[in-house]
Amino acid sequence: MNFDLGDEQRMLIDTVRRFIADKLQPLEAGIETTGVLDDDTARTVHAQARALGLYALNMPAELGGAGLGAVDAMLCEEQFGHTTDILIRRAFGNVYEALLACQGEQVARWLLPSVAGERTCAIAITEPGAGSDAQGIQTHARPTATGWVLNGSKHFISDGLWSDFFLVSARTGEKEISLFMVDKGLPGFTIGKNQPMMGIRGTPHVELFFDNVPLEPLALLGERGHGFKMAMGVLGKVRLAQVGARAVGKASHVLELMTAYANDRKQFGQPIGSFQLVQQMLADSVIEINAARLMVLQAAWMLDAGRDARDWIAMVKVHAAETLGRVVDRGVQLFGGMGYCKDLPIERYYRDARIYRIFDGTSEIHRTVIARSVLKRGAALFELHR
Ligand SMILES: Cc1cc2nc3c(=O)[nH]c(=O)nc-3n(C[C@H](O)[C@H](O)[C@H](O)COP(=O)(O)OP(=O)(O)OC[C@H]3O[C@@H](n4cnc5c(N)ncnc54)[C@H](O)[C@@H]3O)c2cc1C
Repeated sequence: MNFDLGDEQRMLIDTVRRFIADKLQPLEAGIETTGVLDDDTARTVHAQARALGLYALNMPAELGGAGLGAVDAMLCEEQFGHTTDILIRRAFGNVYEALLACQGEQVARWLLPSVAGERTCAIAITEPGAGSDAQGIQTHARPTATGWVLNGSKHFISDGLWSDFFLVSARTGEKEISLFMVDKGLPGFTIGKNQPMMGIRGTPHVELFFDNVPLEPLALLGERGHGFKMAMGVLGKVRLAQVGARAVGKASHVLELMTAYANDRKQFGQPIGSFQLVQQMLADSVIEINAARLMVLQAAWMLDAGRDARDWIAMVKVHAAETLGRVVDRGVQLFGGMGYCKDLPIERYYRDARIYRIFDGTSEIHRTVIARSVLKRGAALFELHR
């Protein structure tokens, strides 16, 4: 295993970094103030990212994606962490790999337009009564002579306001969960309120209601009854990218600001970076961020090698999310009153970071998964030669 970067990887990272600094970061303050990214600007950043070949990085090149392997994709995802959630989603896309299970007519209808950025998709698993217990959902789809009829509700569904279709988990039998592609605008399908959140302003999180929604047979994604497995498979990679790598990028971004401020801000006649207690905040942050970064790359390397990375991804999810939380907390502390003041973005990063320990499986759920694996397969489970 060698994490030395080649020239092409460096060029890719530089391209992403420059695009984010030049085109996306200048938009952040406006989104924070208004709470929205307007459609015209969203279309513009999407077109700019596409022109640079940065849309749908995770999708195979033969379908029109960038065809990056997991390591290269994570290097880009870390850079994405240097901007905000909604700008990442609108510029670079959010094409769920579960869509690769599309067959026949489904390919032209849902998969290809998603990779091309013509249709956008949200994933709808969580319900008011079923969050961590994703198998406890009540939403159900009953087979009919013409397909299926869908009933139930979801909440907290990111991107719900601007998505064209939804990957919805639904019970299709007593112990059976399937995934359906549900188009916006179907009769009986309504989008409820945009649920206000503590941070990540601009990204809508909505309720969905299904009242006898008729679905064609074509709406079933993959095999009936494989929905839970598929959803968890998708979320594995999503977690590594959207939580693990992005959390590392966000923490690095905050650390850059902390470092500059520690050199610049003077108290008692000297830069605050000369005080050992401030230095400890910087040192602990660098150590933790780099440990998280290497864990992300390790899990990505395992995916590229075709190895089972589920336990590693669970560890990355916990460690990267919690590292981000500690680093932004130190960031606020290091900036003192300015860290708490809305004139600087540090307080926004602090709010935005909090969700990382909750979505895509809480830290508690992932710790449970890791502990179960260790108890079952032994403490040497995570040694790299195994
Ligand atoms: C901003 C945001 C965006 C989201 N986007 C999406 C989305 O796009 N699509 C989607 O489907 N969902 C989405 N979610 C939902 C998210 O994945 C859930 O909120 C998360 O999985 C936790 O579920 P819950 O909120 O129901 O909490 P609960 O499951 O009720 O958990 C409450 C507390 O109990 C703890 N707990 C629960 N079970 C256990 C256990 N067995 N052992 C130990 N502790 C336990 C939890 O860790 C937590 O601390 C989003 C949520 C938010 C806030």
